[in-house]
Amino acid sequence: MTFSIHGLAVARGIAIGRAVLVASSRVDVAHYFIEHSQIDAELQRITSARQSVMQEVQRLHQSVPKDAPPELAALLEVHMMMLQDEMLADGVKHWVTDRLYNAEWALTSQLEVVTRQFDEMEDAYLRERKGDLEQVVERLLRHMKGLPTALPQPTPRKSAGGWQQDQLLDDSHDVPLVLIAHDLSPADMLQFKQSVFTGFVTDVGGKTSHTAIVARSLDIPAVVGARNASHLVRQDDWVIIDGDAGVIIVSPSTIILEEYAFKQRQAQLERERLARLKKTPAVTLDGQKIDLLANIELPEDSQQALAMGAVGVGLFRSEFLFMGREGQLPNEEEQYQAYKRAVEGMKGLPVTIRTVDVGADKPLDRTAKDEAHLNPALGLRAIRWSLADPSMFLSQLRAILRSAVHGQVNLLIPMLAHAREIRQTFELLVQARKQLDKRGVPYGDVRVGAMIEVPAAALSLPLFLKYFDFLSIGTNDLIQYTLAIDRADEQVAHLYDPLHPAILHLLADTISQGAAAGKEVSLCGEMAGDPSLTRLLLGMGLRHFSMHPTQLLRVKQEVLRSDATRLKPWALKVISAEEPAVEILKS
Ligand code: PEP
Ligand code: MG
Repeated sequence: MTFSIHGLAVARGIAIGRAVLVASSRVDVAHYFIEHSQIDAELQRITSARQSVMQEVQRLHQSVPKDAPPELAALLEVHMMMLQDEMLADGVKHWVTDRLYNAEWALTSQLEVVTRQFDEMEDAYLRERKGDLEQVVERLLRHMKGLPTALPQPTPRKSAGGWQQDQLLDDSHDVPLVLIAHDLSPADMLQFKQSVFTGFVTDVGGKTSHTAIVARSLDIPAVVGARNASHLVRQDDWVIIDGDAGVIIVSPSTIILEEYAFKQRQAQLERERLARLKKTPAVTLDGQKIDLLANIELPEDSQQALAMGAVGVGLFRSEFLFMGREGQLPNEEEQYQAYKRAVEGMKGLPVTIRTVDVGADKPLDRTAKDEAHLNPALGLRAIRWSLADPSMFLSQLRAILRSAVHGQVNLLIPMLAHAREIRQTFELLVQARKQLDKRGVPYGDVRVGAMIEVPAAALSLPLFLKYFDFLSIGTNDLIQYTLAIDRADEQVAHLYDPLHPAILHLLADTISQGAAAGKEVSLCGEMAGDPSLTRLLLGMGLRHFSMHPTQLLRVKQEVLRSDATRLKPWALKVISAEEPAVEILKS
């Protein structure tokens, strides 16, 4: 039966494919495709993990003290049964051999299929056995990762249960795949960057959550905040993701499929048409030259930036080098090599490297959600984190300074609000240069800029203009902090409003005070890549836009059609309107 699910549209286009559900597991699981030649070795990894965990559970079973509650021995027996169950093994084998999933991913995929069958069971006792299965799979995963395998928690039980045969389809692995998950961390998304997925959906997340931002950079249709999509969609269902409308259509009829296939072809034609603008300079009708820069997450993204005609990198989110490494931070040399690759990749064009911005919805590790802190977005994030660990920060500063030998580098500092944070940052920069001098290591000149993304910064512009060479407005956070809306929370996503008069005033002030001081102001939040806002930003005086390379041509098209001088009075009217969004629609 066809049904649709609504979420938030975050990355444009239509994707049609079979659903791949990524089950959330308490163990950090890598998802990647293996080669045909690796199938046997991958299956062998699962077999040996099963054997070892089996031996371990048997040992535990034998050592259960006589006076222990009877449930404990029964529980271990259930676990042993589940470990031996052929249905689990057969399902896992399917994912490895037919879909070429790595062993861990195959295990969590099969877990997802089987737990769904448990959920549908009438018998409450049997339904409860789902927890046992999750524990067994978790033990296997922990074993494969070389982590200690924790003792299962005894729960009251009546008798042991099994599960139904799954209804897996045995398509070949050439079928287009779309990814459906409850949540994906930015680090997960990064891993999917090289993958074959043609679209993705998550239950949670807001339009400017970092997961959505990375999705946009992948240029594949995506919907976030789809609430319970990962429960409603089943492994292998045919799914259409409409990234423009924020809709997911599950098990579509042939007529619907044809309609969306047509839309897909139209979008492809539009892309080809836009591609002709790659080399066209971004100049408005009244001759204003506009800098369209790229936001990147990895050094290799510089290739796409160049290919789309970016005139530089306006934001290199360096934190992506720090993520998914199980707490092991990259050292100075490793960072230097990465920055150097990005700088050389841009072939002489400027690269703005932002110092690490972890915390809030960008945990260092997928599993390290900062549950200890109630408000991580207001906590030890970005520059606060860097200043709290000067030796880590110094090594990043040294690496960035060294990369400036290879091209034009700008250094950008995130989330500043206080004068003392600014002073400490500059002191550490002096210290980093001295350390390099002492070691006799060459480094280059960098322009130093501040992100304006905390309302306190946007309201203290003279301070920032005194210290910094340039400013970069981070509207994603500026909106989050000004409107008191968690950018990653889909429940308040409807209140996340870039056109709120308060936001527009802060933007207009930053742009005009920057211009009056003769300092460059750029905008690197998601607003910069939204073509429906380009005219307004041009009218407000913005001349430097930084966005995902994939958004660049649409924004350029708007720039080419605009007369910035004529847009100025209109922009003033929009800024002072009670409901700016309505004014924009009227124009
Ligand atoms: C922003 O806040 O607008 C920004 C560009 O930084 P990030 O999205 O990485 O927080
Ligand atoms: Mg930010």
